[in-house]
Amino acid sequence: MLKYLDTHVLEILDPVSQDFGVKILVKLENLNHPLISGNKWWKLKYNLEQAKRDEQKTLLTFGGAFSNHIFATAAAASEMGFESIGIIRGEEILPLNRVLKFAKTQGMKLEFISREAYRKKNENAFIEYLREKYGRFFLIPEGGTNALAVKGCAEFAREKLSSVEFDYLCLPVGTGGTMAGIICGLEGNKEIIGFQVLKGAEFLMEEINSLAKDFSGRIFSNWNLEMDYHFGGYAKRTKELDDFITKIDRQHNIKLDPIYTGKMVAGVFDLINRNRFSKGTTILLVHTGGLNTI
Ligand SMILES: *Cc1c(COP(=O)(O)O)cnc(C)c1O
Repeated sequence: MLKYLDTHVLEILDPVSQDFGVKILVKLENLNHPLISGNKWWKLKYNLEQAKRDEQKTLLTFGGAFSNHIFATAAAASEMGFESIGIIRGEEILPLNRVLKFAKTQGMKLEFISREAYRKKNENAFIEYLREKYGRFFLIPEGGTNALAVKGCAEFAREKLSSVEFDYLCLPVGTGGTMAGIICGLEGNKEIIGFQVLKGAEFLMEEINSLAKDFSGRIFSNWNLEMDYHFGGYAKRTKELDDFITKIDRQHNIKLDPIYTGKMVAGVFDLINRNRFSKGTTILLVHTGGLNTI
């Protein structure tokens, strides 16, 4: 089992919450592990258990050059005694960035493939090529999202949030695996708002529904996606976003990353300003981590 540090819930006392009569809480899940932080810990937990049970020696996964998932998988493999292979989208750029340099120090083997090849990463022919090249491995999909990831995130919601009183839960959404798990773990209770960091991505509603249904056998309707807080698209940022992240750090001593949590918290503040939440509402933000890579 991976090490796990228990995390706490912090109240953000901001003029915005006072003006609109809402309470803002943050579950600081980013502090659950020094390297495998936030949602990545929960997404990997049951994948690692399954790999051990299957007596696998090697983990293989996919990601972009700045992927938190690559970072976390490399660290988790090292902690749990697996070999690891990272299939990285795009050409190798030297010197390696912090994420890839770190992955390498954890023992991860990196293979760079073209964007065209990367698009075919889920096709059988490509997986066969990888099996021929690397031998037996436990495959974790891009972003770590699969049924075992949903299971871990459901456990997070069930076990770590049951003692917290709140009406809304907010989180950033990439592939939707974390959100699907949290929806399942809350079993139809509370309202869940996901802040999509990808532009467009109309497939996400369906994806989240199907991940949740595959895991729980149910279709839940107590959730929705906010699509207007991507700040230009995945890994894009604006001065407004950077200023907001700096402000939250200065005023509340909470560090947010520009790819996921910064966009989500900026979105929540904007929705509060637009009167989306009625007086007396408690909003719980999940800090999903992501600070290792910046
Ligand atoms: C990977 C990541 C997400 C996205 O999680 P999904 O399960 O892909 O939606 C959100 N926040 C942080 C900090 C991440 O690293």
